[in-house]
Amino acid sequence: MKLLFLLSSITNYAHADDIVMNYSQYDAHENYWRVVPEVIVCKSQTIFSENQIKYALDLWGESYSRISIREKCNYQIEYGKIKIIDGKQLKKDQNGYTSYIYRDVKVNNKVVREHESALVQLDRNINDISLLVHEIGHAFGYNHYNENVDVMNSHSHRHRSGKYPY
Ligand SMILES: [Zn+2]
Repeated sequence: MKLLFLLSSITNYAHADDIVMNYSQYDAHENYWRVVPEVIVCKSQTIFSENQIKYALDLWGESYSRISIREKCNYQIEYGKIKIIDGKQLKKDQNGYTSYIYRDVKVNNKVVREHESALVQLDRNINDISLLVHEIGHAFGYNHYNENVDVMNSHSHRHRSGKYPY
């Protein structure tokens, strides 16, 4: 992540394959996970390989404890976990949808999000790793960035993300 950040401070964006991240422009850098999340790959329910998921995670440079493979998952949100699953519950015009649970906490007089779980749903017909990167960004608390071409641009994919603060 340090390298990515360095790149982004020089050029204002980091470029990996065709994935553009204007990383330094994102808000919500202060958001964090309550526990270091475990990433659950629901193997029969996603077209992305463990390596692709690791690649997407590494682009963000956020901490995770491990990637675990589960043959089949239910759609329940699980504490401390980022679950990657198909988009059976997506609406017709959505390619991806990340549901997450967080609470607002005050750190240095600023309200930030403390995340505790995320469910990343991805349409299995969309073979585009930038969708995976986008939704994983949401799972780590990053919001949309629509000023430029960017992996977090909300217009690059038809999707919405849900928030369930408690
Ligand atoms: Zn989004």
